[in-house]
Amino acid sequence: MENIAYYNGKISPIEEMMIPMNERSSWFGDGVYDAMFTMEHVPLSLDDHLKRFYRSAAAIDIKIPMPYDELRALVIDLCKKVDSPVAMAYVQVTRGVGMRGHAYRFAGDKPSVWVFVKPDYMDPLDKSYRCITHEDTRYYYCNIKTINLLPAVLYTEKAESAGCDEAILHRGDRVTECAHSNVHILRDGVFQTAPCDNLILPGITRAHRIAQCREMGIPVVEEPFTLEEMMAADEVIFTSCSALCCRIGEIDGKPVGGRAPELFERIKKAALDEAYSEAGIVRL
Ligand code: PLP
Repeated sequence: MENIAYYNGKISPIEEMMIPMNERSSWFGDGVYDAMFTMEHVPLSLDDHLKRFYRSAAAIDIKIPMPYDELRALVIDLCKKVDSPVAMAYVQVTRGVGMRGHAYRFAGDKPSVWVFVKPDYMDPLDKSYRCITHEDTRYYYCNIKTINLLPAVLYTEKAESAGCDEAILHRGDRVTECAHSNVHILRDGVFQTAPCDNLILPGITRAHRIAQCREMGIPVVEEPFTLEEMMAADEVIFTSCSALCCRIGEIDGKPVGGRAPELFERIKKAALDEAYSEAGIVRL
């Protein structure tokens, strides 16, 4: 199939799936999600993503009405059914369906489970990316992967209108993350990234790059950095499930990074090796 959707037990192509108007997602964005990419139909870091998904749901008092192993098997099965070996696999849970009313009691007592898999592509790792900076005007739930993504939509549109790939967010001088990825710097041989507080999403890809840096003996610092420090860094990198290790070469029209290419290449190679190995791809 070209793509596939699951909603509360129903399965169909995404375009044909009908969702009730009283879905709390449409009234309030009252739900959480997670997303991962497949290679050779294998959803990468599946358990990390699903564990974060259950944690996000618990953080907003939603109990996912499907045991972990059942959801895991469903995602794996749907990924196999989609023709494209590279795809996005997406899971979502909302508080359910009920007449519009803010309090939980207006929701039925059955949260809705959504899954879809659609063909997609991963950001090339040999490209130099261009970004804009933007004041981070989001709220303080950035550590929960909620479906309330209006700020990310607006930031992404601004970046694209400027001919750029991502928007790097900052609260005052402090860099937080990007519209849909985490941002890191390399300086003096150290991988530095913002700490996991309520100002950033604890990215799965971020965690993997940190673990690999530590394994390779590259020091890691999880401390905030400023816009000025980012502009002066040896390299600036963004990561997400679709951007395993991407180098930023220009921010707000000014060249950045490019001063630690070997270190960057080591981290990038480790990222690629990990993904290929998980997908069972043998590289000659
Ligand atoms: N930060 C934000 C705001 C995101 O939306 C995402 C991914 O969607 C990330 C970071 C990266 O997270 P991950 O590496 O788990 O994809």
